[in-house]
Amino acid sequence: MEYYSTNHQTRNVSLREAVVKGLAADRGLFMPERIPQLPKAFFKNIGNLSLQEISYAVANTLFGEDMDSQELKNIVYDTLNFDIPLVHVNGDIYSLELFHGPTAAFKDVGARFMARLLGYFTRRGGNSGMVNVLVATSGDTGSAVANGFLGVDGVRVFVLYPEGKVSKIQEAQFTTLGQNITALEVNGTFDDCQRLVKQAFLDDELNSKMSLSSANSINVARFLPQMFYYFYAYAQLQQRNQTDKDLVVAVPSGNFGNITAALIGKRMGLPIKRFIAANNRNDIFYNYLLTGNYEPKPSVTTIANAMDVGDPSNFARVLDLYGHSHERICAEISGCSYTDEQISDTLARCFKDNGYLLDPHGAVAYRALMEQLKQGETGVFVETAHPAKFKDTVESIIGESVTVPERLEKFMQGKKLTIKMPSGFTAFKKFLLSV
Ligand SMILES: *Cc1c(COP(=O)(O)O)cnc(C)c1O
Repeated sequence: MEYYSTNHQTRNVSLREAVVKGLAADRGLFMPERIPQLPKAFFKNIGNLSLQEISYAVANTLFGEDMDSQELKNIVYDTLNFDIPLVHVNGDIYSLELFHGPTAAFKDVGARFMARLLGYFTRRGGNSGMVNVLVATSGDTGSAVANGFLGVDGVRVFVLYPEGKVSKIQEAQFTTLGQNITALEVNGTFDDCQRLVKQAFLDDELNSKMSLSSANSINVARFLPQMFYYFYAYAQLQQRNQTDKDLVVAVPSGNFGNITAALIGKRMGLPIKRFIAANNRNDIFYNYLLTGNYEPKPSVTTIANAMDVGDPSNFARVLDLYGHSHERICAEISGCSYTDEQISDTLARCFKDNGYLLDPHGAVAYRALMEQLKQGETGVFVETAHPAKFKDTVESIIGESVTVPERLEKFMQGKKLTIKMPSGFTAFKKFLLSV
């Protein structure tokens, strides 16, 4: 299968090229040239299949013709070596818990899959050199990517982060790993880190001497695997005989990668009736639904900060999927936008009423279902992070202490290893040429 660019100004590319390049030459986002269907029979007994079996079936439908099937199976099974349980919260509302991976956030799924796929293409490419992945992070992406790539042959990762500007637990998740992961502590801001990475990709000398890649969230290998768990949510509803009602999926959205994967899952045959894109005060998409105008704005800081995005990068994919029709988009996707106060209230109330502890991101989507779910519908929202990742915020809302899972605690015990870096490009380039 080939991949086209949403800007349509460049030729189609292979899966390999889409994964290695990340972004199309015309700055568009890659999309599969067609969306293959899973047979109806697959859904009849999906409740009997495991997360790994379902994910492999979906992955094989999408990527099967472009790679060795046993290798693909290994990649899928290795990526999803943790559970993604569906937990009943109240009434017709369920939480799909995406936080049981190594860094306790849903980005683990995409990052782990992409790392393994990139490793596969590198090894097979007859390219004896290493692929060097550069990633700038303000916290969460760095940890998911670093852990996703940890120990993957043929790939080295350089995480650039602003010194003193990420939380201790986040920092521990990418500075204590060692092996093929190097953390660069930049004397500057997140924007400086991002600038250094961008400049490296544009530097002819660097690119002629080493193979550079990004683990950006717009990469098809990070974005598409996020659909696997929506199929598994449906399977778990079937196990409970809860598939007679219409399924509504609510996704706390920032860059819209997670929800776009679900939209494609529906096109592949997954019986989802409609979607809710749940936003914090960064309401660019919600305003688009209301007005038909897309107006990016600088992001505002909220307590659900992984969704503080003022120009969602996957919006181009959403538009593309619906042929740029505002009407068709509104027919399938609704939205909402909540203030920090509404998010806090929801988190506190859900804990009090149901004994279920949400994180601030999941709370946005849960509230959306509480407000928008209709009779005859079952709602599934995705819990995108473990509440302990936002320990201080969550504890101050519920007035109780939150237990940190052992795997997060463990990072804190590791030894921090970083290389300090000034914010100018010269030093960074010199460093890269020396590794
Ligand atoms: C990244 C992230 C989101 C937003 O996901 P998108 O795919 O960018 O819409 C939501 N919640 C958490 C916890 C995240 O880390």
